[in-house]
Amino acid sequence: MTSPQVRKVQIDASSHCQLACPVCPTANGLTKPVLGAGHLKVADFERLLDRNPEIQEVELSNYGEMFLNPQLPELLACAYERKVVVSGSNGVNLNFATEAALEAVVKYRVRALTCSIDGATQATYARYRVNGNLDRVLRHIDRIRELRHLHRSAFPLLDWQFVVMGHNEQETEMAKGLAQSRGMQFLPRLSWNADHSPVVNTELVRIEMGLPAASREEFRQSEGVSYTRSLCYQLWQAPVVNWNGKMLGCCVNYWGDFGANVFEEGLTAAMQHPLMEQARGMLLGETAAVPGIPCTTCDQYREMSASGTWLDPAEIAASQSGDILTGLVLKNSLQAKFARVAVHEGVAEQAVFGSLGRVFRFGTDTAVYFRAGGPGLYTIFVQGLGAGGWLPVVRHLVEVRERPVCQEFEVDTSGSSIEATPAGTRPAVPVSSWIR
Ligand code: SF4
Repeated sequence: MTSPQVRKVQIDASSHCQLACPVCPTANGLTKPVLGAGHLKVADFERLLDRNPEIQEVELSNYGEMFLNPQLPELLACAYERKVVVSGSNGVNLNFATEAALEAVVKYRVRALTCSIDGATQATYARYRVNGNLDRVLRHIDRIRELRHLHRSAFPLLDWQFVVMGHNEQETEMAKGLAQSRGMQFLPRLSWNADHSPVVNTELVRIEMGLPAASREEFRQSEGVSYTRSLCYQLWQAPVVNWNGKMLGCCVNYWGDFGANVFEEGLTAAMQHPLMEQARGMLLGETAAVPGIPCTTCDQYREMSASGTWLDPAEIAASQSGDILTGLVLKNSLQAKFARVAVHEGVAEQAVFGSLGRVFRFGTDTAVYFRAGGPGLYTIFVQGLGAGGWLPVVRHLVEVRERPVCQEFEVDTSGSSIEATPAGTRPAVPVSSWIR
C-alpha cells in the first residue's frame, strides 16, 4: 500500500493547558501517560519543515494551549520563512498571551485562530472554562484586531467557537452578537460529552446550529454516520504528531501511538509504518482490527465496525482541496464608506457584482476573502461608495502564487481604472467562493 502524500500536519505546540474544563482529557490528566508534558521545540520544527518541503500547512493546536509555548513567535517565524501556513483552528483558549506572541500571529500571517468561548458572560463562560477570564480573552482578541490593522494584514481570521451545552444555550444569541461586532465568524459546535450539562431546548439548538441534531448521538442516528467522521481522514492527509515527534495519527487519539517518531525517523517513514498502514486498512474495512492500534479501542472505529459505514477512498480524496485562501485588504484613498468587490479568475474587462461580489465596510472589516482555485492571474474590481454615490470602478490584476496556501493583497479604491490586459490570457470566470 503506498503512503499518501502529506501536505499538512498537526502538532500541538504545547501539551499544557491552564484551564480545568470538566470533561477535557487534558484537565483530567488522561492525556499525560502518552502525550507527556512539554512544548514543541524550534529545532525539531525546523528539522521537520526542512526535511519535508512538501508540508504547506501546520495546525499548532490540539489538546494543549499553543500560546503557552514560550517559543511561539520563533515557531511562527520559522514556518513563515519557509512559506508554510500555520493555524490554530483546533482551538485556543487565549487566556494567556504575551504581546510578542500576539504580534507574531499577525506578523507571520497565521491563517486563523478558533477561540473557544462558550459563554457571553463571565459566570457562564467560567462554568465550563474553569479558571478562564472572559474579559482577558476578549482583550487579546481586540489586540489582535488592532495589530492586524497596524500591519495592514488580512490574517489571522478570528473565529468564535461556542460549544452548546445546557448551561449556556440561552447565551447563544448574545455570544453571536459579540462575535459579529468583532468581525468574527460564529461557530456553534456540538458537545463531546452529552452527559455533561446536556442541552435543554433541543429545538432552539438545532435552529442555532443549522444542524439536524442537538447532540452527537442524535446526529449519528439521523445522519447514519458520526459527527466527527472526517477526523479519521487525518491518517491520510494531515497526521497528528505529538510535540516530541511521536506519531499520534489523528486529533482524537491520546491513548496510544502509531509506532514511529516523526522527528527521528522522518515523516515518510512514519506514514509508511506498518501500524499506520494497518490502521488505514482497518478504517476502509479491508483489514481486521489489530490489537494495540489506537483505532481498535476508539468509539468511532467501533461505531463504523458495528454499522459497516467504512471510509471510502473517494470521500477522503474529495475532502482535500488545493484552494489558496486569498485576503484582499482595501486601501481607502477616496474616503469611501463602503466598497463592493468582485473577483474573476483570469483577466476580465467587466466586473460582475451582485450576488457574486462582496461588500466591504471601511472601519469595520479587515479584508474580504475568497478561495482561489489555484495559482494564476486574478482580476479584482473595486467600487467605492462615497457621500456622493458610487465612485468609478477600479480594476487590479493580482498574481496568486503556488505558495503559501494563504496570501493577501492590498487593493485601492482609487487608481487607473483599467490596466492593460496581458496578451494570450485565458477567459475569466467570476469567483463565487467567499469566506464570511
Ligand atoms: S478511529 Fe478513532 S483513533 Fe482511529 S483515526 Fe478515527 S478517530 Fe482517530
